[in-house]
Amino acid sequence: MTHIAFIGLGSNLENPQAQVTHAMQALDTLPGVSLLAKSSLYRSAPVGYLDQPDFINAVAKVQTTLPPIALLQAMLALEQQNGRTREFLNSPRTLDLDVLLYDDLQHHEHGLTVPHPQMHKRAFVLLPLLEIAPECIIPGVGRASDAMQHCRDQQLEKL
Ligand code: ADP
Ligand code: MG
Repeated sequence: MTHIAFIGLGSNLENPQAQVTHAMQALDTLPGVSLLAKSSLYRSAPVGYLDQPDFINAVAKVQTTLPPIALLQAMLALEQQNGRTREFLNSPRTLDLDVLLYDDLQHHEHGLTVPHPQMHKRAFVLLPLLEIAPECIIPGVGRASDAMQHCRDQQLEKL
């Protein structure tokens, strides 16, 4: 049984553009995961903790045989391989990989919340997502394009 998932990527340390570009390719090398589409790269200002470099963000569409928790664990492992440390909430990071969507699943347990709880409020997620999935519906929220209308004030630069 294969599933469709969307992965949000972000980096703001150690050559962020290369981090995100390489990570999208690395997704395709994971057992049970194949890359179907990738967005452009976008530059965004930090949220939460503001005294840190801008972020590079992108969204990838993958096909996977992994169940949701296993997919999250694979993402966290890939973060670790890329030198991710967790110092404080919203701290700078070499690589952040979020499971945004998994089929039309709504799930909230075992350390995984899908859809990602903040995704519908973030232009740096929604704009790259809409680039590769214009008709995307966020379960429990609605159309991604409608959510994006509420994020118009957020600075985002397509690279
Ligand atoms: P954030 O991405 O919000 O800046 P982290 O990357 O540090 O924060 O994630 C914190 C934790 O959130 C992770 O250890 C992970 O277990 C949990 N988590 C829950 N749901 C998700 C999801 N959909 N995608 C990624 N991580 C998630
Ligand atoms: Mg994360």
